Amino acid sequence: MSKTLFDDASKRLEKALKYVSISEDASARLKHPKASLTVSIPVRMDDGSLRIFQGYRVRYDDTRGPGKGGVRYHPDVCLDEVQSLAFWMTFKCALLKLPFGGAKGGITVNPKELSKHELERLSRGYIEAIADFIGPDVDILAPDVYTNAMIMGWMMDQYSIIERKISPAVVTGKPITMGGSLGRETATATGAFYVMNTILSKFNQTPEKTTIAIQGFGNAGAYLADLLANAGYKVVAVSDSQGGIYAKQGLDIPSIRHYKQEYRGMKAVYCENSVCNIVEHNCITNEELLSLDVDVLIPAALENQITENNAHNIKAKYIFEVANGPITSGADEILESKGIYVIPDILVNAGGVTVSYFEWVQNRNGFYWELTEINQKLKQKMLEETEKVWAISQEYNVSMRTAAYIHGLNRLGEALDAKGTRDYYLNN
Ligand code: NAD
Repeated sequence: MSKTLFDDASKRLEKALKYVSISEDASARLKHPKASLTVSIPVRMDDGSLRIFQGYRVRYDDTRGPGKGGVRYHPDVCLDEVQSLAFWMTFKCALLKLPFGGAKGGITVNPKELSKHELERLSRGYIEAIADFIGPDVDILAPDVYTNAMIMGWMMDQYSIIERKISPAVVTGKPITMGGSLGRETATATGAFYVMNTILSKFNQTPEKTTIAIQGFGNAGAYLADLLANAGYKVVAVSDSQGGIYAKQGLDIPSIRHYKQEYRGMKAVYCENSVCNIVEHNCITNEELLSLDVDVLIPAALENQITENNAHNIKAKYIFEVANGPITSGADEILESKGIYVIPDILVNAGGVTVSYFEWVQNRNGFYWELTEINQKLKQKMLEETEKVWAISQEYNVSMRTAAYIHGLNRLGEALDAKGTRDYYLNN
């Protein structure tokens, strides 16, 4: 039988279980998703034809609170991927001590082929199909790959229509005007930035001495590139699904973002106002970007980018996983043997779900916070949990990934046991 993404994800859990003393009941529960839903979504296309799309929602665990996780629109979305993403969300929320379980959703679709109206009908149709499975106290949605605030707004609106009451807390990452939180759009990147600064400073790796390559120039990757460049790091390569650009002297990130927004393409440019001039650079493939001789590599696109096939080619000293699951468990071992330091997804990209939590709290209170308050709370959480994961990795002499799972597992085990264990029933 071929190995699935979920089989691979579960290996990280098995590794961490050796270091924790949670009950057998709790560890058994954490190996299986609580509930999975597969739906068909009929959508009337602009030309009058009907297309049926496949959609999914998996609630992996809700012991620590309602399910929480994004919705992905991508042609490769399948139940195995959604289940793996829901698994990672479970550990991420526990790691960050958020009162949520883990969930994820997705639709198998290439959103670039749909008109805006078709995309809206698809998004509303998805909510129609899963409405009984979600809710502000059950399972809360958010953006992920190829979904954004506009789509979250449609989803929240559709759920409110079905429920016949305004229900902003069912979806986070909404437009500000519909109850979205300040700082949510940049939260994943901001959180990753705090983790990077904390870890790199432990190795005396200062910004001006650090070259960086980033795969994926979307919500997470592009904002992070901006933050890093502003802080003095040298971002020398970036890419999107079409390919990448590399310039030894460093790239001007605001210009590239401006050009991409304007022309939907990726070019190494320097812009003054609306005039952009091309600067010296090389066009590279995504595979070439991964093997560049840089200090830091940041996969910020999709899973399974660094595998047993290309891990040998990686030259970076540190990898910060902004994407979920970009490195396979087999590749992890190769990277470790090469002395490459990997900081895992469930810590690095947790800023997004942390500000999603703040958004949910604000929606439920009907009271909205200032950006400075949000950023200060985000920073505090990210720094606190990064230091705890670092301390566990030092104490047990394990990788940051295993340390992150140990930390999340301890919280999950405690919560599962609090509901009653085998010992409790045997002793009473
Ligand atoms: P996005 O849709 O905004 O951007 C995705 C980017 O990846 C785009 O630039 C796209 O062109 C690029 N891409 C797609 N396929 C690629 C390929 N084969 N090679 C190289 N680049 C490719 O998505 P996002 O929200 O930035 O999410 C990126 C990753 O970060 C995902 O793994 C997601 O699960 C994770 N993440 C996102 C958030 C969030 O808040 N947005 C939070 C946590 C984790």
